[in-house]
Parts: sequence; structure tokens; C-alpha cells
Amino acid sequence: MSSFEFASPRTEAEAVELLAAHDGQTAVLAGGTDLISLLKADIVTPQRVVDITNISSMKGVTSVTGGLLVGALTTLDEILVHPLLAGHPSLAHVADGVHAIQIQSAGTLGGDLCHLPNCWYFRNGYGLLGTLNGESLPAEGRSDFHAILGNQGPAKFVSASRFAPALIALGAKVRIVGPTPDQVTLLPIEYFYVTPKSSDQRVTVLTPGQLVTHVWLPEVSSTLASATYEVLQMEGLDYPLASAGVALEMNGRMVTEARVVLGHVAPTPWVSHDAAEVLKGRSIDEATAQAAGDAAVARATPLAHNEYKVQIARTAVKRALLRAVGQLEGVS
Ligand SMILES: Cc1cc2nc3c(=O)[nH]c(=O)nc-3n(C[C@H](O)[C@H](O)[C@H](O)COP(=O)(O)OP(=O)(O)OC[C@H]3O[C@@H](n4cnc5c(N)ncnc54)[C@H](O)[C@@H]3O)c2cc1C
Repeated sequence: MSSFEFASPRTEAEAVELLAAHDGQTAVLAGGTDLISLLKADIVTPQRVVDITNISSMKGVTSVTGGLLVGALTTLDEILVHPLLAGHPSLAHVADGVHAIQIQSAGTLGGDLCHLPNCWYFRNGYGLLGTLNGESLPAEGRSDFHAILGNQGPAKFVSASRFAPALIALGAKVRIVGPTPDQVTLLPIEYFYVTPKSSDQRVTVLTPGQLVTHVWLPEVSSTLASATYEVLQMEGLDYPLASAGVALEMNGRMVTEARVVLGHVAPTPWVSHDAAEVLKGRSIDEATAQAAGDAAVARATPLAHNEYKVQIARTAVKRALLRAVGQLEGVS
């Protein structure tokens, strides 16, 4: 591990000032469940690490006009049981899917949203795009866990966030502060993620000196149904092969508006307008859910070793929809 300065601010303003220094060669430390591994392996080598865990304004869940403000430091186990989040089962489904109480109690919402890709080339020092001598390793080598959608450019990793699909489906926004303390942006989460075209670009819109302080969730109506379904290889701690977060506005049994967002299939969370279109004006049953799953992956362009993910993504969409309307039990 390379050496770095360590700072522990108490306010968002102090954090932003500390992060903007050193030409932005700094890193945010939240629960540290991922960042510490990246530091140990010298995959990220900041000159300063800014530990944000003492910033009380970034903790907990509060009601605000029109919705809820969830602090970026809210831990996964808090999300699982928080009474104010009871109307958002799709978020509890994600937190519950992280099958390790240590990670649930240390990992934070902000850390999940800003989680760097799990791509094995990136994690072994071949950069964000996984290149060696100018060649794309996912294109030339194994690509089992790489993207099946949005993979035509140089980025072939999959977005790592587990909460982003559910949050995008719910219409959530991220609150970003920086690079000066008075600069505050509220951005729909679907626009938070970007697909890098070169290895010096990032996976989110965050620029040096910025941090995510909160997630804003719009008020849910009594007619909103939401769910997440993640396909995991292992019962224990594992990253999803594919997932889907869905939010459905219902009029009785009829879907009046749908949002379907896939995770772990593309370099960014993947909003499927095609799947949403299939659902409009129909009731959810196994056939409709299957048709939406088919539509979600109809444009997939799998790489050499990940064709299997197409079926997994299709199933994730189908099961998330059935789960949202309480019809998941017994479905294949
Ligand atoms: C052994 C081990 C195995 C794990 N396996 C899994 C697994 O299988 N599946 C899974 O989903 N999770 C797994 N995790 C947990 C994973 O790290 C989670 O994604 C966790 O939610 C990250 O939160 P954190 O607060 O610990 O993030 P950190 O590690 O502190 O940060 C993660 C990244 O986000 C950035 N960041 C953090 N907060 C902010 C912020 N507010 N604003 C801007 N940037 C920020 C950091 O700079 C860093 O790049 C594992 C962790 C460990 C230790």
C-alpha cells in the first residue's frame, strides 16, 4: 500500500475542501469495505484519504417535503429495517441480498453507489478499461462477468452498484456537494453514471473534490409497487450476475407506468424503455413478465463468454416484476 495523508472532517464543507486539494488526487473513505482493498492493492493511490464517517449530517433517514433524504452514510442494515423506508421494498431486497452481517453493518449507501467496477482486469491492475498493450482484455480474453449491453465501446465492465437499479426505478436523485462547499447539485441517479471512453475518465459524473452526501427519494404513492431481483451464484457473499429493479404505478391490477432498470449487465445501470413499454396498460402475470424480460434483453450483444447472462438478465426482470405484485412464489 502506498502512503497517503489521512483526514477526518466533521462537516460536508470541510470534506469538500480536503477532497479538492492535491489536484483532486484524493479518495473518499466511507465504510471502507471496498476502498481498503483497492488501497492495499495499489489500484487506487490517492495522496489523501478523507474519512467521512464522522460527518453527522450524512447519516440517517429524514422526511423532507416531497420525499425522504437518505444520508450517504446510511448502512445497509439500517436500510433493511428503517421504518421510513418500509414503503420501498425494492431497497430492502438489495440490502437483504448482501448475505454478510459484517458488510451490512459497515457498508454504506454512498459506498455502494460509488463502488468501482469488480472487473477482474481492473482489480488486477489493467486499468478501468482492462487493456494490455492497447488490446482490450475483456474483448480478447475471458469475459464471463462482463457487459452484455452497452458494450460496443472500450468499456466492457459492469456497473457494480447494487442499489442503483432500484433507486433509478423509484426516481431517486443524488445530492452532490463540491468542488466548493456552496456547490450543491441534485441529479437523477440515471444521469449519475457514465461510460468511460478512455482510462482517465470515471464511472460517475463526480469530479475531484465532489462527494455524494444524500439520496433523495420521492414520496411513494399507495399505488406504487416496487421490487428488486438479483441473480447470485452463491448463497453467501457474492456480487450479482444480473439484477433488475422495477417500480410500477398500478391502477388496480393494471400497470399505468413502469420503470425497469437492469444492473450488472452494462457499464452503467441499464434503463429498459422497451420492457417498460411492454407493461403499460397490462396486468402483471407470468406471460407479461416474461415478455418484458424478453424485451429487456432483445438488444443484448454478449461477448465471447457471457451469452449465459442474457437468460439470467431476462429472468431477473421477470422475477422482479412478479415479486413486485406478490406473485413470485413457485415461478421458474
Ligand atoms: C471481503 C468483502 C467482500 C465483499 N463482497 C461483496 C459482495 O459480494 N457484494 C456486495 O454487494 N458487496 C460486497 N462487499 C461490500 C461492498 O464493498 C459494498 O458495496 C459496500 O456498500 C461499499 O460501501 P462502503 O461504505 O464500505 O464503501 P467504501 O469502501 O468506503 O467506498 C467504496 C467506493 O465509493 C467511494 N465513496 C464512498 N462513499 C462515497 C461518497 N459518499 N461520495 C463519493 N464517493 C464515495 C469510495 O471512494 C470508494 O471508491 C464486500 C466487502 C468486503 C470487505
